[in-house]
Amino acid sequence: MKKVIIRKTEEIENWRKNINSEINFIPTMGNLHNGHIKLISTAKNDNSNLNLVSIFINPLQFDNKLDLENYPKTIDNDIKISFSNGADAIFIPSNEDIYPPNNKNIKFLKAPIELSSALCGLNRIGHFDGVCTVIYRLLNLVKPKNLYLGEKDWQQLLILKNLVQRKKLNVAIKSIPTQRDFDGIPLSSRNVHLSKNERRLIRFFSSELLEAKKTFEHKKKINLKEIIKKLSEKKISIEYLEHLHPHTLQKARLEDNISLLAGAIRCGETRLIDHVFLMKRRPIIAIDGPAGSGKSTVTKLIAKKLKLLYLDTGAMYRALSWLMIKDSIDYKKEKKLQNIFKDISIVFKSNTNEKQDVYINNYCVTEEIRSQQISSIVSKISSLKEVRKFLVEEQRKIGESGGLVAEGRDIGTTVFPNAELKIFLTASINERAKRRKSDKNSKDSQEIDLHTLKELIKKRDFEDSNREISPLMKANDAIEVITDGYSINEVVDKIIDLYNEKIPKEIEIN
Ligand code: C5P
Repeated sequence: MKKVIIRKTEEIENWRKNINSEINFIPTMGNLHNGHIKLISTAKNDNSNLNLVSIFINPLQFDNKLDLENYPKTIDNDIKISFSNGADAIFIPSNEDIYPPNNKNIKFLKAPIELSSALCGLNRIGHFDGVCTVIYRLLNLVKPKNLYLGEKDWQQLLILKNLVQRKKLNVAIKSIPTQRDFDGIPLSSRNVHLSKNERRLIRFFSSELLEAKKTFEHKKKINLKEIIKKLSEKKISIEYLEHLHPHTLQKARLEDNISLLAGAIRCGETRLIDHVFLMKRRPIIAIDGPAGSGKSTVTKLIAKKLKLLYLDTGAMYRALSWLMIKDSIDYKKEKKLQNIFKDISIVFKSNTNEKQDVYINNYCVTEEIRSQQISSIVSKISSLKEVRKFLVEEQRKIGESGGLVAEGRDIGTTVFPNAELKIFLTASINERAKRRKSDKNSKDSQEIDLHTLKELIKKRDFEDSNREISPLMKANDAIEVITDGYSINEVVDKIIDLYNEKIPKEIEIN
């Protein structure tokens, strides 16, 4: 496909109609740096869509005329950079193209006040309204499948996610972490205006934020006043420095696992922003649902793709049931169980097939716990108070520092009620019985006829959902995913999209 430069809105429509592909859209204001390059190359590597980069300095988002006049313009270089890093087309409209005078159809939008009145909105009146207006206009013209944005402008990213939701636009927002320069300061087109001394001050500001992030990891708290004092001592003029909830931009609460520390400073005529995410532990995904809903397959794949630890809590209940049968432990004598459990260890180890083995007291039970004998007793055993107390504690120990995706029946409601993402995975009983019948890990199930299998699953559903302690149910804040008619990969991708919407990419970076 020939690379093209498009200058008129009508040409965009023609180009879109002639290409036989979806579009990745990367809107920019030009003066491209490595941050933009990362956006373009991420889009190129993500999929086989065509990549359209737009270069348009949007006057509506400048609250300061001088800033608009001085905004660096390097169009020839931008064209070279875009094409050599994966752009298939570049859209360079004029002001009149984007905002035709007398065109009454242009919608001037307002950004939601809850998100736009905080942080940068305090001093940049109308800025986010301008951003919403131009992006809405561009999205309606380009109609992309994916919109690529940087996390550097985190508040802008939240506002644009909100715009897409509010206007029910059919576009997925993909974000990339803040790209930093060799000295740690966030890349920005405005950096060209900085003097040596100003750059040194920003470097100090950014390194203070990164330091606060590290301190938070072990102290789990932050002292804003101390940071402000240090910055003031360097005569850095602070516009704001706030510790907030990363999505609502309200004050961070004690229970927030991930929070945002964001600041803006002024150096000479230039205003710069930077932020870090503070994290008490790495994220947790909780996946609950009834037997045969596809939890194991989906959870394992998510763990692999997101490089998270995989925790199969059902296997722990099964392993304990196996031991109780083998050692003829009378599970009705609940009081005695506490003592017995003191000497039990359940661990997961990766095996040579890149799969997980389950060991109870150093004995590998991976295969044995999948028998019908265990499946028919496990619900009874897992309804016992002492059993649940013991295993929930073990599961919490495994998840203490986060970075895991756990599957079970009570993960979102009881084990990890503060999980960042909670999914309730389910499917019709017919679908679940069919899946169990073809499950290679469950040899017994393959031999049972479909009708009996259905009845057995229904019985287990009933027992799991009606027990007294932490019954199987959807947590209030869980997202229900019904998997009938969807392939495994479609379900996995959907959950990963939900995760990416909630968790900044930046948390993976030190
Ligand atoms: O997921 P799987 O079918 O292996 O789980 C076996 C059983 O373990 C469930 O039917 C349920 O009785 C019990 N279980 C539980 N709580 C969990 C996970 C499993 O009660 N978190």
